[in-house]
Amino acid sequence: HAKQAGRGTCVLFTRALATEIAYRSLVEQELRAADLDKEMSVVFQPLWSVRANGIYGFEALARWTTPALGSVRPDIFIAVAERCGLMGGLSEVMFRKALVEAERWPSHLLLSFNLSAKDISSTQTLTRLLTILEESRFDPHRLILELTETAMLENLNEAFRNLERIRELGIGIALDDFGVGQSSLGQVHRLPISKIKIDQSFVREIDSNGVARNIVRTIMDLARNLDCTCIVEGIETAEQANILSSLGCELMQGYYFGRPLEPTAALERVQSSEQAKPALKAIG
Ligand code: C2E
Ligand code: MG
Ligand code: MG
Ligand code: MG
Repeated sequence: HAKQAGRGTCVLFTRALATEIAYRSLVEQELRAADLDKEMSVVFQPLWSVRANGIYGFEALARWTTPALGSVRPDIFIAVAERCGLMGGLSEVMFRKALVEAERWPSHLLLSFNLSAKDISSTQTLTRLLTILEESRFDPHRLILELTETAMLENLNEAFRNLERIRELGIGIALDDFGVGQSSLGQVHRLPISKIKIDQSFVREIDSNGVARNIVRTIMDLARNLDCTCIVEGIETAEQANILSSLGCELMQGYYFGRPLEPTAALERVQSSEQAKPALKAIG
């Protein structure tokens, strides 16, 4: 029986994998042919400040819908774009779209924008992105670029030089998805980062699991020692928000505070005087 089940699992696995590979090659085909400017769009997820009890900015997130495939998940098309050498172009399109919207926001709001490893290790792409920023009316001090540790450590010398260029302009750098993947602590202290985003995987178990709580506490200590601020991602419930708040987390992001919104909805959410403010228990 076990043997049979094993074989069955293997067949299923192979089939799923084949489907996945076929799907990705379809995505690649579509992406190569796509008019990115027309097909890509940007949504904005609120970034929440506990102290201000309000939105302090938005993270721009890419969305892609094609006639042939419908909507494709960002982690899939980003990975495909990176592999096919299309990432630079995609980032430029997305950055332009995000800035056009952000220029209309009240001036206290920050824009957080994701860069891929390809962007930060390519001086050419980075130069284009900084030109787009210059041509906009958006203040660089209101911009945060999100990068994963792997992204910064790939092609280290180029990345370091580019990170320095970014910092000199007053742009913030956030270490995204901290605590997962191949991230190692070895190099973190050398990176010129200003923010650490604690991955949502730690939040998922925070109400039931003391270890998860301790990990978050430890990362927050680390951030403090590095002179960084911490943001926790993926907060979905009031309970999680309250626990994190009691651990001293000040900046939060997640469905509980708001899902990614179309640009007009994001602006409306900020403008409406009665922003639906989730009440966090006051922590003394
Ligand atoms: P990320 O930068 O870590 O973005 C956070 C992801 O978590 C987003 O997924 C967001 O919708 C999702 N999320 C936020 N709050 C919650 C929550 O409470 N619960 C759950 N389950 N999920 C939550 P999304 O939009 O699918 O993006 C996935 C990843 O794709 C992003 O992860 C980022 O790495 C990448 N990505 C998205 N847009 C861009 C872009 O314009 N450029 C680049 N280079 N990468 C992008
Ligand atoms: Mg991000
Ligand atoms: Mg993240
Ligand atoms: Mg992520």
